[in-house]
Amino acid sequence: MHPKKEQLDDAAKLLLAELEQKELTAKDRNQIPLQEMPSQDPRERIFNMDEVALGYTEAQVRIEALRCLQCKTKPCIKGCPVEIDIPAFILEAGKGDYARAASIIKESSLLPSVCGRVCPQEVQCQLYCTVGKAKKDVEQSVSIGRIERFVADYTREHGLDEVPQVGADTGKSVAVIGSGPASLSAAADLRREGHRVVMFEALHKVGGVLVYGIPEFRLPKEIVNYEVDILLKMGVEIRKNYLIGKTRTIDELFKKDGFDAIFIGSGAGLPKFLNIEGENSVGVFSANEYLTRSNLMRAYDTNNALTPIYHSKRVAVFGGGNVAMDAARTAKRLGAEVVSVIYRRTEAEMPARREEIAHAKEEGIEFVFLHAPMRIVPDEKGRVEAVEVIRCELGPEGEDGRRRSIMVEGTEHLRPYDTVIVAIGNDPNPLIKATTKGIETTRKGTIIVDPSTGATSLKGVYAGGDIVLGAATVILAMGQGRTAAKAMNEYLAAL
Ligand code: FAD
Ligand code: SF4
Ligand code: SF4
Repeated sequence: MHPKKEQLDDAAKLLLAELEQKELTAKDRNQIPLQEMPSQDPRERIFNMDEVALGYTEAQVRIEALRCLQCKTKPCIKGCPVEIDIPAFILEAGKGDYARAASIIKESSLLPSVCGRVCPQEVQCQLYCTVGKAKKDVEQSVSIGRIERFVADYTREHGLDEVPQVGADTGKSVAVIGSGPASLSAAADLRREGHRVVMFEALHKVGGVLVYGIPEFRLPKEIVNYEVDILLKMGVEIRKNYLIGKTRTIDELFKKDGFDAIFIGSGAGLPKFLNIEGENSVGVFSANEYLTRSNLMRAYDTNNALTPIYHSKRVAVFGGGNVAMDAARTAKRLGAEVVSVIYRRTEAEMPARREEIAHAKEEGIEFVFLHAPMRIVPDEKGRVEAVEVIRCELGPEGEDGRRRSIMVEGTEHLRPYDTVIVAIGNDPNPLIKATTKGIETTRKGTIIVDPSTGATSLKGVYAGGDIVLGAATVILAMGQGRTAAKAMNEYLAAL
């Protein structure tokens, strides 16, 4: 039985009334049950693109906050890449002062509504939580991300957010390339200092992967648009459909346009392929293309779509990360009858978040573990007809600490599919590297920076996010954007 939000709320209200009667000891707090996140019923949500996780109710968030022991050593903070003062904001949330809680979070993070939803909390802040450690189960940790989400949603929905103050005009100007979380955070911190900030985005929508990659059912786009609006209100200028490396090079931004410094946050949007036979058949997509069509071109909205949708009945998704889960769950919502995630290891080795795997299973996604794709078989018209897979076994641990998968010869067989989505990772976008003389990069194409400042090998040019880290996370990208902005503000002050 799938509990409804109202049922969870009724139970929470009763419990909260009881808890508020007494002075809670650590033992009492330890016994408070973890609050379940209300979510859309899987039987309904596979037919819509609306958000799956519905967010805590007020009674639930207060109870969840009461589970926090307010540890003196604050171990959870060291798991947060931007070091939010977690116990402090949870304390305020527990008292019902959400505006104060939000302002504590915003001292460190620009996008709490986003991070509360998509941060891999179970390997970051919540991994270090004393409550989860004592119960030897990270899933029993205080739900820091869910509380963060509630607080940020509350202040947004109640009009309590203020546009950050902007300093007096410094006469300096900065170009910010890309509009993902790294660039959004860098732009905010640079503008606050009083510099003119111009953001250049290649696509027609602003937000990077937050708008073109992560599906609406995990991160509603109105939340990203709201944050972008705040930047606009602060006076950040945004140029869309503007490709740096083509329309203008980095060199031209300095010499022709007179920018004093540049931040590169161009991300890792170049899809990797397996390079197997048949990968150029009709019906093979990179997860990037598939998700971008669905997200930006509203392919799911058949009456108003800006791009035709490929009608699939049987979809194979290659890969085991969050991107594979997003692609598989999107395919289901676009009407596929069978969606199989083909992964060469077992569930334990899957890099995707547990919560996303659980949601995918609830939605009827099939998992074909310990199988690897060998070739894609097209029909006489060149359209995908089947995928040849081979069975695998787990071998010893590899360099990345995960057990290797070893193919078992002679176990090849065909599985019928009409669509294949390749979700095996992304490389950094190569255009800026190719058009910027003297910028140092790694063999993989990521830009080399001083990690304490984000400074690249070129004077006045800084970088952060996936273009530096390779495909990473939203909060790490944000953290790098802020680090670079701090160093850039110092650099500009000294000019
Ligand atoms: P991006 O968000 O990639 O933004 C880069 C922007 O730069 C893009 O808008 C691009 O169009 C623009 N650009 C590129 N080149 C140029 C150019 N030459 N000129 C102008 N503009 C340019 N992370 C999580 O923490 N949790 C998740 O659940 C999660 N899920 C994900 C799901 C998917 C499908 C994907 C693809 C990624 C996911 N990630 C997740 C990873 C996360 O989104 C990224 O790590 C993060 O967005 C990186 O931020 P960024 O600012 O570096 O770059
Ligand atoms: Fe945890 Fe992410 Fe929030 Fe930091 S930003 S406290 S890691 S959910
Ligand atoms: Fe609260 Fe857990 Fe942080 Fe302790 S470690 S302060 S219980 S969130």
